[in-house]
Amino acid sequence: MHPWAPNLFSFQMTRDPAFQFEPGQFARIGVRRDTGDPDSPESIVWRAYSVVSPKNAPYLEFFSIVIPGGAFTPALARQRAGSTIYLEQLSYGFLTLARFEPARDLWMLCTGTGLAPFLSILGEPGTWNHYQNLVVVHSVRYPNELAYAETLRAAAGAARGATLHYVPVVTRRETPGALSQRIPALLENGILEKRVALQIDPTHSRVLVCGNPEMIKATRKVLASRGLAPSRRGNPGQLAVENYW
Ligand code: NAP
Repeated sequence: MHPWAPNLFSFQMTRDPAFQFEPGQFARIGVRRDTGDPDSPESIVWRAYSVVSPKNAPYLEFFSIVIPGGAFTPALARQRAGSTIYLEQLSYGFLTLARFEPARDLWMLCTGTGLAPFLSILGEPGTWNHYQNLVVVHSVRYPNELAYAETLRAAAGAARGATLHYVPVVTRRETPGALSQRIPALLENGILEKRVALQIDPTHSRVLVCGNPEMIKATRKVLASRGLAPSRRGNPGQLAVENYW
């Protein structure tokens, strides 16, 4: 268990070799809650979580918010090293690079725990070989919620195939080094593209968006006005999204 902030933590669990996933996908995790009947199936509560760890890591890592009073996250946050939790064998979701035809830049736009799938995608060597620029934009309310910032800064500083641009966004407190407006506004006013000296267009850009559903709706609208279309089966576009709730 790794706490990032009072409302945020990451954890690792052992991995059954039968569990396979593509970076960007999610799995369903179960924890037991106290129903008075520990043998009843209803005593296990399940929630979807994007995998943080790379495709071939021997363990699985996940990143969670704690929603006070919630049916799942407080119980998950109470787990300790050695606890038993459950993992469904299937993996789900279409927030994967297989959706896209090759391009120059990969943009990964997220809020809160929506960062998780992008960490797994960045853990894949192919991501660094297939794009020239990788841009991670992580929008949070307060600076202590910028989980994995050190990992991302270190990755941005390392010489690899692609250049990683890490752009933290903190919307509720002035924070040195971070942008302060919401992602759709930063796209509309051009500040985000200026920051990384790259322009978003259908030829050069592929965009993954993950997190707050309202952010996704607004972001899709701005990107549609730039000519970016969602990737659909048999009809690759430039955009793929995952709502987190
Ligand atoms: P959040 O409200 O999603 O805020 C995270 C970032 O997204 C902030 O920078 C915020 O900016 C921005 N944002 C919020 N609404 C936006 C919009 N319409 N367009 C663009 N950007 C937007 O906060 P969080 O701390 O990650 O999550 C808070 C709540 O989300 C929780 O209490 C819970 O209800 C829900 N949640 C649920 C789950 C789940 O699995 N059920 C998972 C995660 C979160 P502002 O500061 O300007 O609002």
